[in-house]
Amino acid sequence: ALDIGHDLGRVVLNARSFEREQRLVAELRAIDSYKGRLIATVSHELKNPLTAVLGHVEVLEDLVQDMPPELARSVGPSVATIGRGAHRMTRVVEDLLLLARVGDPDRPVVPTRVDVGSVVADVLALLAYALDEKGLDVVVEAPRRPVVAMAEAEEIERLVTNLVSNACKYTPAGGTITLCLAVEGHEVVLECTDTGLGISEADQAQLFQEFFRSTNPVALAEPGTGLGLNIVHRIAVRHGGRTEVESRLGEGSTFRVRLPAAC
Ligand code: ADP
Repeated sequence: ALDIGHDLGRVVLNARSFEREQRLVAELRAIDSYKGRLIATVSHELKNPLTAVLGHVEVLEDLVQDMPPELARSVGPSVATIGRGAHRMTRVVEDLLLLARVGDPDRPVVPTRVDVGSVVADVLALLAYALDEKGLDVVVEAPRRPVVAMAEAEEIERLVTNLVSNACKYTPAGGTITLCLAVEGHEVVLECTDTGLGISEADQAQLFQEFFRSTNPVALAEPGTGLGLNIVHRIAVRHGGRTEVESRLGEGSTFRVRLPAAC
């Protein structure tokens, strides 16, 4: 026989737990939005004084050039240290500003047709000095026809920059970085493969989280904020795409990003 009382009771209980979950989701959203606004405000406030510091460092660097050699030897290293610190802080602040921007649900993607091959070429030109200095070979594999995604060009440029600069940072001299572009069905697939340090399975599971840095001491020796891959992941996801990683410790890594292709 149908136990109406019992079934009604379950319905009421389910409705209550659904309500509780909805409340929890709303609270978590509010906390996340507060965190985003806090990061954006603090980063903004830090950016202006940092720009001023960098400007003054440039003035000091010029002055050091004109100083008598003995004075320049004692003042020069301090000016260089301040300059390096200010540049590093600027990178962190810029990463935080971008993180807040790509994590803001009120700022959706405004997609246009983006030639991903051109973006890759631009990024490689910008990073040519660092890649060359480290003695890394770069190979680009792409079809003859342009590979076009529906995306925000500036964000795709940042995504490619983060992947290539990581490959550069975490690949010992003499290694190779391969950038591979393809269209698979409705997706643009971008792969960045390196012959570098590789990433343990335990680290791979946390790689795309904010502020995650590997436990590998060789990787930790490189400067970083642990924000680069989180930004890559957020950009891919807000475009309706996704990120994947394949890696073996000591052999190298492949980062793959899938984005919506333009028709
Ligand atoms: P960052 O490089 O600033 O530490 P990321 O978010 O870009 O931050 O990367 C997180 C961590 O993932 C890095 O600290 C590094 O240990 C690891 N990692 C990223 N890219 C690579 C790569 N191509 N090869 C090996 N390890 C990598």
